[in-house]
Amino acid sequence: MIHPNVDQTSQKKQVKAVGMISGGLDSTLAAKIIKDLGVDVHGVYFAMPWGCCDKAMASEAAKRIGIKFIVLQLDERYLEIIRNPKHGYGTAMNPCIDCRVYMLSRAAQYMKHIGANFLFTGEVLGQRPMSQKRHSMKWIEKESGLEGRLLRPLCAQLLEPTIPESQGLIDRNKLLKMTGRSRKPQIQLAEDLNITEYNQPAGGCRLTDPGFSNRMQDTLTHGYRNFRETIALQWGRHFRINDDFKAIVGRDQYENESLLRYAHRDDTIMLFADKDKMGATLLLKGYGPSKEILSTAAGLIQQFSRYKDAAPMEVNYWPVSDPGNVQCATARKLEALEVQRMYI
Ligand code: SF4
Repeated sequence: MIHPNVDQTSQKKQVKAVGMISGGLDSTLAAKIIKDLGVDVHGVYFAMPWGCCDKAMASEAAKRIGIKFIVLQLDERYLEIIRNPKHGYGTAMNPCIDCRVYMLSRAAQYMKHIGANFLFTGEVLGQRPMSQKRHSMKWIEKESGLEGRLLRPLCAQLLEPTIPESQGLIDRNKLLKMTGRSRKPQIQLAEDLNITEYNQPAGGCRLTDPGFSNRMQDTLTHGYRNFRETIALQWGRHFRINDDFKAIVGRDQYENESLLRYAHRDDTIMLFADKDKMGATLLLKGYGPSKEILSTAAGLIQQFSRYKDAAPMEVNYWPVSDPGNVQCATARKLEALEVQRMYI
């Protein structure tokens, strides 16, 4: 394996690049290689509202390597890509090819904005089934408007030379030729470069998880009011009561508090009326819930408490936008099948 050497000629110090940083090993190695070639590296991290790669880890990795670190937030436009990806889904609702194109296009805008010479990623040829096959990589590069300007330092020697290589801004001989799913070459290189802390490779983001995908699909089908609302898809048990109402039941204190923090102003909050009784926080999504809807939602709180088999209990509820307007509903006894049917 060819290891990159530090090259700090004055000419190369002026080269500027944007690197996609996830906090994982591959992007960290790629950034280290490019940085050690004397390039001024601006690491870009894409933040998903429901979490994916670890932002803190990515920021730490950038700091350790000594590169700049910029966070770009995914927004409404990204939800539309999930709803209708041109190139379909992976194993669940992960639209990996469209996702890569979208992120790279935005990173390319940033590249132009700061006057960088090229963009790079930690991709390895053949490592991921959907987005890292040779033809997908080529196509993704073209679609994101980066033709010739997208460098993959870990496998560059297996790909056509990019513009920065042809122009002599980057020495192709110092780039690598990694391929396939084995992690051994990366781990060996990390040791050689003294990189000891990095995220273990994950199978993908939350969109690759079937449970999360079901909740996302339900949200896209029934509508959402703003992008921030999708943050709650990562917490709690989700139930579709009918086309207009959905309930989310927190599973622990952290989730209960998180649900409250990210509630929409038109949501309804529900809790056991008796403060001495331990129970979940329930977030009811939908406008103007009827008595029946409220009592079904209250039934869900009781169902997931230690009072499951007790007599129907009282539950307080109030609109997020009017916390002083507390009213009371009585839980309805729910059959297991009904709960199962509502479960998203
Ligand atoms: S695993 Fe998730 S974040 Fe990664 S490319 Fe696929 S959809 Fe995008």
